[in-house]
Amino acid sequence: MKTITVFKGDGIGPEITDAVLQILDAAKAPLSYEIFNVGAAEYERHGALIPDDAFASFEKTRLLLKSPITTPIGKGFRSLNVTLRNKYDLYANIRPAKSNTAVKTPFPNVDIVTFRENTEDLYIGVEYKMNEDTVHAIKLITRKASERIIKAAFDYAVAHGRKKVTCVHKANILKMSDGLFLDIFHTIAKDYPQIESDDKIVDNTCMQMVMRPEQFDIIVTPNLYGDILSDLTSGLIGGLGLLPSMNVGDDYAMFEAVHGSAPDIAGKHIANPTALLWSACMLLEYIGETAIAAKIRKAVDEVLAEKQHLTPDLGGSATTEEYRDAVIAKL
Ligand code: NAD
Repeated sequence: MKTITVFKGDGIGPEITDAVLQILDAAKAPLSYEIFNVGAAEYERHGALIPDDAFASFEKTRLLLKSPITTPIGKGFRSLNVTLRNKYDLYANIRPAKSNTAVKTPFPNVDIVTFRENTEDLYIGVEYKMNEDTVHAIKLITRKASERIIKAAFDYAVAHGRKKVTCVHKANILKMSDGLFLDIFHTIAKDYPQIESDDKIVDNTCMQMVMRPEQFDIIVTPNLYGDILSDLTSGLIGGLGLLPSMNVGDDYAMFEAVHGSAPDIAGKHIANPTALLWSACMLLEYIGETAIAAKIRKAVDEVLAEKQHLTPDLGGSATTEEYRDAVIAKL
């Protein structure tokens, strides 16, 4: 039994978390849970977005399954996600997007894993007002952060039998910052002769991803491009409801769906829990429980393929709970 921390989050967070935990139990995942309410609703109730005991639990278990949190706008809050990534140095944001035969899109051959650098670039949020009409924002790229995300991408390629790593950048314009990232990429690539490597400029990458997505395997890229490109990959495979992620550092790992709290459908019981469920599968794989993860993935594939219990985002009319029960029945 491994104890993990669970954050229930806002909006659709509690609904999809409940569904996922029930599926994990049905699959006999060897997990026990410390569950916390976090986010905007928790702030309204108790005055803290993340209560101290929730932080303490993550610091103990070092494994977090997190559902989406609403970032209150205009109240001076820093995004909680950015806070968690920085506080626990979760430097690699890994987002696998794979076409599923059950979900009709014009892009049946997508199998792209994005490695997004998670701690620097424009996301350090340092902006200066020069005068009333001019603001400077700082883009930070360091050797240390670049090396560790690029190494993580190549190591993943080796461990998962992948063939190619592509570095995405804008070094033709940002010659020093993205230029440093690109130089480091080419240096590290030499240590992995068995993995093909190439680089592409980010604007060209967007076009190529839509024209010929099958040419991409693993992408490694600074924070901002990674944020945008990984949402693009989720569009290619049929929507945000299908994109899981893992935020990992040397000591802590956090697993979450890429989508947000979807306030427009919260409480309607139509949210698709698949992205959070696949994030839970990544957690199981991370702790070595690959057989249980494979069993859950197979059950999900079968339910999606039968198309009888799809949630509305995938063109069906099932509730979150009907979808959950269909997956449990397969298990
Ligand atoms: P969103 O991802 O919440 O929603 C975008 C669209 O996708 C909506 O129409 C929504 O209904 C739909 N959608 C998202 N997830 C779905 C699911 N599982 N099933 C079915 N449909 C789904 O993005 P947004 O509306 O821009 O953001 C809402 C809030 O979420 C904001 O406060 C934002 O800051 C926050 N957010 C949090 C995270 C996170 O915690 N990791 C990530 C992104 C956004």
